[in-house]
Amino acid sequence: MSTLTDPLDPDCAPAASDPALFGGVEAGGTKWVCAKGTGPGDLTEVEVIPTTTPSETLARVVEFFKRDGVRVAALGVGSFGPVDLRVGSQTFGWIKKTAKPGWSNTNVVGALVEELDVPVAFDTDVNAAALAEQRWGAARGLSNFMYMTVGTGIGAGIVLNGRPVHGLVHPEFGHILIPHDHTADPFPGSCPFHGDCLEGMASGEALRVRYGKPAEQLDDRAAWALEARYLAIGIMTAVFAVSPERVVLGGGVIKKPGLLPIVRTQVKELMSDYIELAGEVGNMDHFIVPPALGDHAGVLGALQLAMAAHPGLAK
Ligand code: ZN
Repeated sequence: MSTLTDPLDPDCAPAASDPALFGGVEAGGTKWVCAKGTGPGDLTEVEVIPTTTPSETLARVVEFFKRDGVRVAALGVGSFGPVDLRVGSQTFGWIKKTAKPGWSNTNVVGALVEELDVPVAFDTDVNAAALAEQRWGAARGLSNFMYMTVGTGIGAGIVLNGRPVHGLVHPEFGHILIPHDHTADPFPGSCPFHGDCLEGMASGEALRVRYGKPAEQLDDRAAWALEARYLAIGIMTAVFAVSPERVVLGGGVIKKPGLLPIVRTQVKELMSDYIELAGEVGNMDHFIVPPALGDHAGVLGALQLAMAAHPGLAK
């Protein structure tokens, strides 16, 4: 997949290469985070690039990785989506039709391989964050778990039998439909595709549209109780559908003080003792947990993607 460099071209002169150094890119709808390293303890450089146009954003990512002349052995990219993860597909590594203006059908992996001439591993942003939490964070030791993020949108990375789930495309957990009593709650939802799917009812964007202010400025108890209810319905659905051993629940909306305990209580109530949990689900504080890696989960997950896909390149 890499192209050979031209030895007569000074721009393509062999650069110093550290086989133990990997690159990670968290490709988000508002910012791209680039880093070099091998884990939380040695992120030697981190740079945040605002998401503008595809060509400008990707050019800045390339510039970051070329800047000091030290090549990374491989690069991992965890991207917002939908993305094409099917190896062998003509559009593998592309961001497909997306609501993000200007970004539909962007060949992310192709652009990076062409400019940087390194192997590139690619997955969703939430699958990448899940892998980081599994390696270093709140899901250590688990082979089956879900990382769910509630921010501007809602998404989930699902790891089963130790591997992130890919399939027809990849899980689009934010777009599941949830019970919605239109009389008690007439809000039609904010999802441009489905209206009142989970993301349309409970994402940060849904809260902003519904209440006219961002989630961090919202102090209405009833509003947060309803938010907890919708999130709990989503989590319960995941528990019954894929049987995670833990749910790591992150994202900006979840940072609202007091929200996580209400979600735990609601999930327990909704499950109605159907699954007898020897241990873990019986103790909701251990079953639904915040991320351990905070805001670095995405870029660390991208690093882990690179390392997992190219283990032979590590020292
Ligand atoms: Zn939707």
